Amino acid sequence: MNLRSIREKENKLRKTMIQIAKLTYSKGMIAASDGNMSAKIAENRFLVTPSGLFKGFLEESDLVVIDQNGDVIEGNHGPSSELMMHLKAYEMRSDIEAVVHAHPPVITAFSVAGIDLTEAILPETIFILGEIKFAQYSTPTTEDVPKAIENLIRQHDALVLTRHGSLTVGKTLEEAYQKLESLEHTAKIISEAVKLRGGKMVAPLPSNEIDKLWEINEKLTGKKRPGKINDISNEGPISHELIAKTVMDVLKEMNFQ
Ligand SMILES: [Zn+2]
Repeated sequence: MNLRSIREKENKLRKTMIQIAKLTYSKGMIAASDGNMSAKIAENRFLVTPSGLFKGFLEESDLVVIDQNGDVIEGNHGPSSELMMHLKAYEMRSDIEAVVHAHPPVITAFSVAGIDLTEAILPETIFILGEIKFAQYSTPTTEDVPKAIENLIRQHDALVLTRHGSLTVGKTLEEAYQKLESLEHTAKIISEAVKLRGGKMVAPLPSNEIDKLWEINEKLTGKKRPGKINDISNEGPISHELIAKTVMDVLKEMNFQ
């Protein structure tokens, strides 16, 4: 890529990033200065949102250009405090060019409640998001965050950062944002269904239906179903409370209690 086409790409990305930042704020996926976005301009050149500025009022000139070490190349502000998480995602995935981190309230609430949504409940989840994976809790802005997502982001485009927020990736900023919106919408539907059941968790799709959906998805997109990740230390939350609650619910229905 020559210098002129790098500049052209950067200018387009600046416009899109501002639109996505405002959309993320107006849709309630973040509050105030929460969240951050990044996009790959070229090898070793990334556009990121600045640290501490209100996303609803962000302007193109507020955005920061960094290299792959997180050092600022251009910009009047410090880069996002979750920069290392973004750079880790690019390091693990050569196929992506955009990362969006937000604090969507409903899906984050599922992680606070210790309810895992890895097994698909809605068919669209498989088509748009693949599997929703929950990364174990890690202290925001520390080196623990990139470590917590390292293995999961290899195979998954939509992660929930336990008790924190979401991380979605894509080939473009629009795609990473669409996954965020879809992730939160899925959580809203499931949350409504759980309320209708008086607080009882809903069942996932039957496994044969999940298999069928993955087959269709592979034919349509060429994207393979993710395999099991061996490193369970990177998975979370393993919801023992949910398992216990489900067992109690079953026992109640069978009149053993
Ligand atoms: Zn955050």
